[in-house]
Amino acid sequence: MYEKVLLWATPAFIALMLIECAIARLRHVGEYRLADAVTSVSLGALSTYVGVFARLVSFGVYVLVYRAARLATLDVDAWWVWAGALVAYDFLYYWYHRLGHEVNVLWAAHVVHHQSEDYNLSTALRQTSSSYLLGWIFYLPMALAGVPPQVFLVVSLIDLLYQFWIHTEQIRSLGVFDRIFASPSNHRVHHAVNDIYLDRNYGGILILWDRLFGTFQPERADVPCVYGTRDPLRSWNPLWANLHTYVALWRDAVHAQAWPDKLRVFIARPGWRPADVAARFPKAGFHLPLEKYAPPLPRALGLYCLAQFVVVLGFGSHFLAVEPVLGRPAAIGYFSAVAASLWIIGGLAEGRTGFVRLEALRLALLAALAFVLGPTAAAAAAVAGCLAMAVWLTLAGRALPVAAGASGRSPLAAG
Ligand SMILES: [Zn+2]
Ligand SMILES: [Zn+2]
Repeated sequence: MYEKVLLWATPAFIALMLIECAIARLRHVGEYRLADAVTSVSLGALSTYVGVFARLVSFGVYVLVYRAARLATLDVDAWWVWAGALVAYDFLYYWYHRLGHEVNVLWAAHVVHHQSEDYNLSTALRQTSSSYLLGWIFYLPMALAGVPPQVFLVVSLIDLLYQFWIHTEQIRSLGVFDRIFASPSNHRVHHAVNDIYLDRNYGGILILWDRLFGTFQPERADVPCVYGTRDPLRSWNPLWANLHTYVALWRDAVHAQAWPDKLRVFIARPGWRPADVAARFPKAGFHLPLEKYAPPLPRALGLYCLAQFVVVLGFGSHFLAVEPVLGRPAAIGYFSAVAASLWIIGGLAEGRTGFVRLEALRLALLAALAFVLGPTAAAAAAVAGCLAMAVWLTLAGRALPVAAGASGRSPLAAG
């Protein structure tokens, strides 16, 4: 149900992003960069698709604990149960989110939401695919307290959907609202890497939690927010975005000489590294201003990526719609194909020649699949579409040498 609601909400997300994009252009404030926005939406889509499988486990544990160990039985028809559950969820979200910034292994999951160096509604959709690993632990108190699973699911959706509108630079300050609720102004601070803004304003719906626990920082007119992370991703690749920090932690743990350090890497505050590892593999220091990641990309190839991205999102929506009636192996196969497509489009948007070859292979496999599923008019049209796309890719890919200097290589890069 969770993923279906997000799918239904997608047209509204897209409409609001288009309106914000138009306003930003008119005002020359918070203008969209296409590759950044596409990467954010790609990460949101991937997170939703992963949720189809992962939520079975994370929500399943909630239901198990609720059934086996709840200390009370709360009435699902009582309004105060819903209101109380929303406040309780928001309180637990505050701590989950705060620890997501203060503990490395949790940051490795949450970092995805912060990797955009822009700040607009697309940033809201930039969600991690690995929060399912540990996030569920933080909400078990609600299961123990007897909050019915359906109530938990709905309030968690409300908390997530509320946060969509606060990711914008088009709404400045809202006065007293900014001091009670999470808002565009105080959430801009949350996404900023400036010294005075770092690790502040964790609240999901209520910013009162931050004022209560000493993490509140109002936005200052004299300190413009600089968005991103202090260890920049410098990639449009959605899979690498999800793995980037885990890989960095793993490498540090492997290279650390002392065993306590190997474990401490995962629970230390982000930025902490074992002294011997930091000495052997120094990282570039953080300083402002940040140079935004923007590898050169031929216009035709950028348009090609956008067109393919729209097609893949269509397949992703189809996956969400048919997944309940697919067998598990078919669902995993379909998911893998969509995830691989998003990965290839990300690599292509970085202007990497190796990904042109991968994309050609992807088109060939797609045409072969349509051919096998045919013969119908739709299959014939799909094969013809793949051929047309292959021609477009070939022509667009020819301009690629200008992008040979693209920086920020990732281990998932194919060329
Ligand atoms: Zn955060
Ligand atoms: Zn945010």
